[in-house]
Amino acid sequence: MSRPLALVEVAGLSDTGRVRSHNEDRSLVEPSLIAVADGMGGAQAGEVAAEMAVTAIAGLRRPASAAQVRDAVVRANADIRRMAEQDPDKAGMGTTVTAAVLDDGRLAVVHVGDSRAYLWRGRQLRQITEDHSVVAEMVRRGSLAPEEAEAHPHRNVITRALGAEASVKVDEVSEELREGDVVLVCSDGLSSYVPDGRIAGELVEARSLEDAARRLVGAANAAGGADNVTVVLARVGPADEAPSAEAAGAAGAPGEEGADTAEIPVLGGTRGRAAQAAAAEGPSGRAPRVLEPVGRRRPRRRRPIVIGALVALVVAAGALAWVGSRTYSLAETPGGTVAVEHGLPLSALGLDLAQPWQDTGVPADVAREGSPGALDSGWHGLGEAVQIAAALVWRHGVPELRPLEPPGTVLEPEAPEGPADDGAGATG
Ligand code: CA
Repeated sequence: MSRPLALVEVAGLSDTGRVRSHNEDRSLVEPSLIAVADGMGGAQAGEVAAEMAVTAIAGLRRPASAAQVRDAVVRANADIRRMAEQDPDKAGMGTTVTAAVLDDGRLAVVHVGDSRAYLWRGRQLRQITEDHSVVAEMVRRGSLAPEEAEAHPHRNVITRALGAEASVKVDEVSEELREGDVVLVCSDGLSSYVPDGRIAGELVEARSLEDAARRLVGAANAAGGADNVTVVLARVGPADEAPSAEAAGAAGAPGEEGADTAEIPVLGGTRGRAAQAAAAEGPSGRAPRVLEPVGRRRPRRRRPIVIGALVALVVAAGALAWVGSRTYSLAETPGGTVAVEHGLPLSALGLDLAQPWQDTGVPADVAREGSPGALDSGWHGLGEAVQIAAALVWRHGVPELRPLEPPGTVLEPEAPEGPADDGAGATG
């Protein structure tokens, strides 16, 4: 009964999906340590942030403890923020991260954001992380039913991410494991588009961990493939069955960055430093989130063509652009909703440099009435603007509130066949 347990088999698969131009998810698939990071931000910034989160964890000496993983996540937060402050192209970048490790015989999951960890035991699927999202918070407070959350238009809006604030609150969940358990860690490209019952159905049918990974990615793409999707699975068994987990760990021993993980089986995705070389051009166009710029276009900084009197103007313009790259405000869109805008709103000077960054979907007149001051609250840093927008969504973004039953967390499997019927791509 008390044979020591380990993650004896792992498999992972990452796919760009059917809509995005490139993959901003990153993952780590190792015996003893698995992780998923889901980056956000314009251009390639989301990929960079996700890569930094995964690389920080991959650099740990094995076997890594939960406390060490947590420290790595905190360090990654500081590094991501520093880079975002130094490089205007990376302003606003962020990432989720969810990492699972075996610590003292128990499963420890360290996480920030809405990338989930599930436990599959005895044909039942149980989500063991709590999403750091507006919608999940509403479910926790009883103002939204779990079924409503699954298709909610704001389900992509997260409340925590690495890179969003100077300090990050990292959650940790600990679970007792049993032989035969399977741990699933995934990005919201799976969990926002494939209902939990359907995930369970695919796991019932799967013949192996690899097969399970293929099936889950296939289900996300069948539901529209509106987002990047990444799944990592680990099977729990007696430690003496583990295929030299120590050997995999030893590779990472020298230095803090060592981890040569070239042979780690990540199917179809990229991870590690190779991913940086593979970074592609163009904006990502993924589903909107509070922390993600949409259609970000920064004012072009014009180079001086004559020197002298123009220099002062150029310096001033550069200063404006610099300040603008760090300025967010709330404004009414032409469609009558409240949006977070990025850039300097200098309309009084005929210089409205702000661009829509995130539409909250909350009607402006409702916001004016219910939250006076939010719309004309001036200039903010990113974190502050995100908080105000999240508060507006929280207060006014739910069409109706109704009493509900306590959230059921254990789901019976559903038949896997047939197209998914949720609102796939609703936010895409
Ligand atoms: Ca995602």
